[in-house]
Amino acid sequence: MSVIGILGGGQLARMLALAGAPLGARFRVLDSAADACAGDVAPLLHADFTDTEALERFAAQVDVATFDFENVPATSAEWLATRLPVFPAPAALAVTQDRLAEKQVFAKLGIGTPAFAPVGSRDELDAAVAAIGLPAILKTRRLGYDGKGQIRLRTRDDLDAAWEQLGRAALILEAFVPFESEISVIAVRARDGEFRIWPLTRNWHSDGILSASLAPWPSGSLDEQARAHARAVAEHLDYVGVFALELFVCNGTLLANEMAPRVHNSGHWTIEGAACSQFENHVRAVLGLPLGSTAARGVAAMLNWVGTMPDRATALLAEDVHWHDYGKSPRVGRKLGHATICASSTAQLAGRVGDLAQRLGREAQCAPLLTALREQPHL
Ligand code: AMP
Repeated sequence: MSVIGILGGGQLARMLALAGAPLGARFRVLDSAADACAGDVAPLLHADFTDTEALERFAAQVDVATFDFENVPATSAEWLATRLPVFPAPAALAVTQDRLAEKQVFAKLGIGTPAFAPVGSRDELDAAVAAIGLPAILKTRRLGYDGKGQIRLRTRDDLDAAWEQLGRAALILEAFVPFESEISVIAVRARDGEFRIWPLTRNWHSDGILSASLAPWPSGSLDEQARAHARAVAEHLDYVGVFALELFVCNGTLLANEMAPRVHNSGHWTIEGAACSQFENHVRAVLGLPLGSTAARGVAAMLNWVGTMPDRATALLAEDVHWHDYGKSPRVGRKLGHATICASSTAQLAGRVGDLAQRLGREAQCAPLLTALREQPHL
């Protein structure tokens, strides 16, 4: 029996523990929130990530460690790695914690990105805007997620206020990309270097937060390119475990937005929609077990419940709906749960999603997904 320690006790840790249990894995989670929702399914050590005494106790209880979020202090990850195996390695985590370092790795590997420039002073902001142009997005290099820590700049009049708001942190300016679609690659690399990728996922965001996903999303010649990009990043970082590469499709090419060094919200559909889920394969990779098939079982749509949970009993009346309630208290902008709807064809999926949207009054959330299903009817 192996015990996996997870730094971070949110819904991703919770779903990792649920997926790993049938394999005989046990879990311990460490989180700074006493009510972290993974604590419902695995013993929770409530402590700050930098509390070395707590990390010491945690390390004594587990055989191997991983993360459910990328903003664990790199020093804590490095400290743990001196005691036990940590996957992905802290060095890979460190790259993905800094949007600038991450984009520099993409550029080095020949992966296209939106034009970007580091911004460390008000003068550098002016210089970056002169070089990149407007509209652009000013982002904090660290600790940003779900659209947090970023401001869209439309005209030069926006610069002072944006600098006032974000200027105390190290920043990056990115060209605003008028993308046709957002897709993500969920991939897994085993300890022995075996690499697998799930079919591409198309994503829709609302206020910077993932709202809906659809998979598989065949993107023609871009499929191979996305796969090659993910493999190049994984090999460059000697990565072990699951990660997501978020990409913009723009003028028929791929531009990398960011990489998440962990299981990812846009891969939740794999729980019911793929032969082996992202969560199970991450557990397999971390434990050094053979990876499972990443093939899709049919087509799947994932709807995120952000801020409020719809009525469960009403939703469960719809066909082939899989309900995930993370057990978190409601708060504006907080991810509380999701539902995955499975089907054997896009036409069937469109019918099921339309039915569910109507039952729950979520027509607006489902509209872009339904439009895409109608435009891509050949699955
Ligand atoms: P991020 O936190 O960087 O993943 O950004 C959240 C969302 O903001 C993305 O999924 C996009 O919808 C949007 N976004 C971020 N960066 C850009 C960009 N350079 N151009 C256009 N939209 C962006």
